[in-house]
Amino acid sequence: MRRAWLLLAAVAPLSGLALAQTMDFNKVEILTEQLGPNVYMLSGSSGLDPSHEDAAGGRIGVLAGPDGVLMIDSQYVQLAEKVLAAVRRIDRGPIRYLVNTHIHRDHTAGNAFFAKQGAVIFAREELRESMVKLSQAPNASSNPVANPAGFPVVTYGMGDPVKIRMNNEVVHFIPIRAAHTSGDTNIKFENANVLFIGDFYRNYGYPFIDLNNGGTLKGMLEGLDATMKSADANTKLIPGHGTIIKRDDIIPYRDMVVAVADKVQQMIAQGKSLQEVLAAKVTAPYDAKIAGGTDTSAVRFVTAVYQELKSGGGR
Ligand SMILES: [Zn+2]
Repeated sequence: MRRAWLLLAAVAPLSGLALAQTMDFNKVEILTEQLGPNVYMLSGSSGLDPSHEDAAGGRIGVLAGPDGVLMIDSQYVQLAEKVLAAVRRIDRGPIRYLVNTHIHRDHTAGNAFFAKQGAVIFAREELRESMVKLSQAPNASSNPVANPAGFPVVTYGMGDPVKIRMNNEVVHFIPIRAAHTSGDTNIKFENANVLFIGDFYRNYGYPFIDLNNGGTLKGMLEGLDATMKSADANTKLIPGHGTIIKRDDIIPYRDMVVAVADKVQQMIAQGKSLQEVLAAKVTAPYDAKIAGGTDTSAVRFVTAVYQELKSGGGR
């Protein structure tokens, strides 16, 4: 276990979360795209966030209308005022609900800011527990994710989706088993037929199984299956980063995850070390097809797969 932790620590500085501190937040613009009659997506502008070159920070969802505003995720805290301004250009009504797809700071660091605007925050129990743990760490005062004012107020487990009915829409908060992190949620807008899928799917760089935050390969594969079941052929699927996809785009992605995991499993059976597996470049057949598929994200992905399979976590 200690060994696993050390290996992960060696990769962590490349994970992007640390790099985010070097970006110039002043230059970021928040761009708005309409996805349905009253559903919108907000994205940071490109080329500024070293961890997400395609769009700064995590994507935000907005449902607007006479019953008020519901938001999905809250971005880096440094962008909160700009996000609020973008929401206000869509709708001036009260921001009533905010749901988090997962704990990473590019999705939750603005929570306290939006709670102050009146939003009641929803998330998985696991996500809240992780935030509470962060708030007890020595560096908590400098970590916006550890600010208790931004903790989820309403939490839920792995049971039936939470349903919010407002603005002629039924919004489903669908719990996903530990995939990208231990507390992932998909959010579906039933009438608009739009599904926000957080970060356990991504088409910019390789999959990110965040073992330090409870992510698992097994959960990632289950989550991809669950996502396919929540969608039909026309559903717009909105990843936390990267481009909008359709349900069937998940099939080759899932196949890739399975193929890489099979290859890593074989090499573990042959007694190969992590360094040997990384040197074998098991993702090579996919590198050309993956946008932003840098060495860094391949190493991070293969390392996580190796750690889980090596420790006996099966599929
Ligand atoms: Zn994430």
